[in-house]
Order: sequence, then structure tokens, then C-alpha cells
Amino acid sequence: MNDPLRELYQEVIVDHGRRPRNFRRIEDSNRSAQGFNPLCGDQLRIELRLADGVIEDIAFQGEGCAISQASASLLTQAIKGMRQEQALELFTRVHALLTEGPSSQTPPEALGKLAVLAGVWEFPLRVKCATLAWHTLRSALQGGAAPVSTE
Ligand code: ZN
Repeated sequence: MNDPLRELYQEVIVDHGRRPRNFRRIEDSNRSAQGFNPLCGDQLRIELRLADGVIEDIAFQGEGCAISQASASLLTQAIKGMRQEQALELFTRVHALLTEGPSSQTPPEALGKLAVLAGVWEFPLRVKCATLAWHTLRSALQGGAAPVSTE
């Protein structure tokens, strides 16, 4: 990855970490899940409203490091309006990007704005900060009652 791109990625993550989007509650949510990353102390609650298989609204609240907040913020922007199965497919691709790094199966460019998460793969200690929101999303979509832990 060249340096201007890396700088851009860092800028987006810092921006979303400082001013997370969709950081709120959803009064009429019908799915939710909690996630916790004990390694860093990040915690998140994701709420969404699912209607006819479409994620009509999604928001999160929580506290933790900039990467965990930025990842959740980017997630809500990417997922809103998707069908449930599209969201689960995106989970698989983002999870592969974060844990295995960019590859021909998961080229970061194909993930649009979420490509910025590719930069996190270079910092193994921060990967769980970035995957937390995605595991929490999957749990919410699958109706999981138990809180998600990255450990
Ligand atoms: Zn963290």
C-alpha cells in the first residue's frame, strides 16, 4: 500500500472515530446485540430495524478506541438499506479482509468505503477492535441473545 493511500485510510478512520455516524438509539428497533472486546475494552450495542428482510435502519452506541468506533460507524453507513443476506455476505468479506488481509477473493476496492479497514490488517493487535462491530451485527441479524465477545 502506498503512503498517500495509507494516509487517506487513517484520515477516514480518525474522522469516523471522532464523529461516529449513526451513533444513536433506534426507538422501534426489532433486533439488537451487544459486543465486547476484552483485549482493548471496546464495547458496542448495535440496534436495527428489520422489515421484510431489509435493514431499514441501523445505529450503534458504545465506547472504546477509535478503530472500534470507526468500524461500527462505517458499518452502519454500509449496511443501511441492505437485505439481511447481503449484510451477512458483506460480514464474510470484511471479516476475511481483516483477518487474512487483501487478496484476490477480497480486493479492498470492491468494498467501497470499507476499504479503509484494509489498513487495520497490518496491526494484528487492532484487528479485534475492527471486527467487533461486524460480529455484533451478525449476532443481531441471527437473533443472538448472548453478548458477543471477541475472545
Ligand atoms: Zn479497540
